[in-house]
Amino acid sequence: RAKAKIIEAQRPTTRFADIAGYEGVKQEIGEIIDFLRDPARYAAAGAKGPRGVVMVGPPGTGKTLFARAVAGEASVPFLSITGSAFVEMFVGVGASRVRDLFEEARTRAPSIIFIDEIDAVGGRRGTGGGLGGHDEREQTLNQLLAEMDGFDQSSGVVVLAATNRPETLDAALLRPGRFDRQVTVPLPNQAERAAILATHIDGKHLDPDVDLGIVARGTPGFSGADLANLVNEAAINAVRDDRTVLTAADLAAARDRVLLGRRDSSNALL
Ligand code: ATP
Repeated sequence: RAKAKIIEAQRPTTRFADIAGYEGVKQEIGEIIDFLRDPARYAAAGAKGPRGVVMVGPPGTGKTLFARAVAGEASVPFLSITGSAFVEMFVGVGASRVRDLFEEARTRAPSIIFIDEIDAVGGRRGTGGGLGGHDEREQTLNQLLAEMDGFDQSSGVVVLAATNRPETLDAALLRPGRFDRQVTVPLPNQAERAAILATHIDGKHLDPDVDLGIVARGTPGFSGADLANLVNEAAINAVRDDRTVLTAADLAAARDRVLLGRRDSSNALL
């Protein structure tokens, strides 16, 4: 049976140092790394390691980046899937995919499973929410619950999930022994925005007159993804002008472009 397609196992090289700011989140998530580095140490003390953690925050705040960095820091395989990919048109496919995913993770343990957009599969049951057929989604969710309950914690598999709609999750998912820990990944504050901009400017040439603090002040509400996008747009602007040095004007134009793009995509949802 082909199962490698949606379940991608990687060994990310992402590290915490690649994530600017978010010291609090790094600390909260640090324990997972400690566990994955040496699950036997926990087992020897009779301690239960972390099992399921949901990262909650707006789009583009780096939840996927954090999941990859946990795998990178612990140097363990990273198996990822998107919630919507679980929910297929044929009944039973989603559930068997969940089974394959956990089986694969156990074989490769210690390892990380990352489920992005968990709300697509983990929305409240009996509401018809989420994607795909109703029964199909519930079967998938039930299988996910069964797998979370079934695996031996000393096996060294940690399941990370991400959502920007925590209020829609089925309460059964959040029970002890399942996704019983929530970590909030908020939008970056001004100082963090400056740090994120600096991370993405790294390796590019910046006009010495540019003050990233000013750019940070002018970008309230921007996510890390928006800021990464801004820097890239500024670089494209420079290329268009046949320059290699990014100027304050490039950054200002890029900021407006990103703002406009965000407004367009939020209009598209209406
Ligand atoms: P979504 O909810 O849309 O899936 P997400 O929260 O998973 O988004 P990511 O995909 O991890 O966000 O982030 C998108 C990109 O934004 C990252 O690949 C990175 O380039 C940039 N980024 C986000 N946060 C940070 C940060 N704190 N430091 C550096 N780069 C960041």
